[in-house]
Amino acid sequence: MFQASEDKRVNLFSLDRSALESFFVAEGEKAFRARQLMKWIYHRGELNFDAMTDLSKRQRGWLAERCRLDLPEVVSRQDSRDGTIKWVVRVGNGNCVETVLIPERGRNTLCVSSQVGCMLDCSFCSTGKQGFNGNLDTSDIIGQVWLADQTLRARGETVSNVVLMGMGEPLLNFDNVLPATELMMDDLAFGISKRRVTVSTAGVVPGIYRLAESTDVSLAISLHAPNDALRDQLVPINRKYPIAKLLEACGHYLSGLGERRSLTMEYTLLRGVNDSLEHARALAQLLRGLRCKVNLIPFNPFPASGYERPDERAVRNFQTYLMNAGYATMLRTTRGDDINAACGQLVGQVQDRTRRQERYIARRKAQEVA
Ligand code: SAH
Repeated sequence: MFQASEDKRVNLFSLDRSALESFFVAEGEKAFRARQLMKWIYHRGELNFDAMTDLSKRQRGWLAERCRLDLPEVVSRQDSRDGTIKWVVRVGNGNCVETVLIPERGRNTLCVSSQVGCMLDCSFCSTGKQGFNGNLDTSDIIGQVWLADQTLRARGETVSNVVLMGMGEPLLNFDNVLPATELMMDDLAFGISKRRVTVSTAGVVPGIYRLAESTDVSLAISLHAPNDALRDQLVPINRKYPIAKLLEACGHYLSGLGERRSLTMEYTLLRGVNDSLEHARALAQLLRGLRCKVNLIPFNPFPASGYERPDERAVRNFQTYLMNAGYATMLRTTRGDDINAACGQLVGQVQDRTRRQERYIARRKAQEVA
């Protein structure tokens, strides 16, 4: 049963290093005790205060009394034939989100969720169809990394890359996402390089400015269209923050990164919608002068989406055009689609507050009958 909300003890997975040190100091302890504790929980995977033998008995006592180490509960795990693993986890508000581990050539990339569902409703994303039911806590977000990392450690590996590309819009849950990214990069926790921690946004412009003030993680922009008319339809938040404002924010974020770093522009290819060479040409022109690479994602289907994936030739042509125009252009290969773990296929179990899910289900049923 889910009761954590009534629990007055502090969940230490919600605190990044500086918050944890402050908490210890406020309790009359030395800051280095907080660092000892971090090594126990993140490196050794120890969740029992009593086993943390370099802390005194008294310290272990107050920790057990005042604190907890609660993780999201694993509801299910599915293994794809390509090695991808998808977990469904129950988070602090009782809903479920999905986390996907993608092993590839010496890398273990974890795709982490930041919200229960999503408020944004991009037209081609199934998460949006689930509606929305709140933000994840820092502990829910970092807990996904902890769970995957422990699974990998059992086979002598660790999480090497994190992308906040699961369910939700990370920049609309800024206050919980930021400490989680701090922990991902902290040597006393996961020690992942800032180049390998990526926040992905549909274009929450004020969030990009705030991010620039707070950190220098890698940033990916879900662009998907080279002009406002089309982007307004695909990514509705574009009506609030149009492309020009978005690219201005991108330039600002880039100015805070080293010369050698760049942004990633994500572009989901939808057949007959945004996949022509005209679109590629407009995209190349639009991005001229911005240090970025392009990540092409052929659309991953879901029921009643109304969209189709372009054929392979169209995808290749689009990619070749951009490469010839001078852009490093990656084609994201579909992983884990046999377990519905590919980009845009994550649905979790959202007790929707927006009635969007209800409308989607009705539409799906109508199409099945037709
Ligand atoms: N809200 C954030 C994080 C989600 S990232 C963002 O929009 O960036 C998930 C990425 O997959 C985004 O680039 C999203 O646009 C893309 N995507 C969503 N649905 C998809 C689908 N059905 N097929 C392919 N890519 C999809």
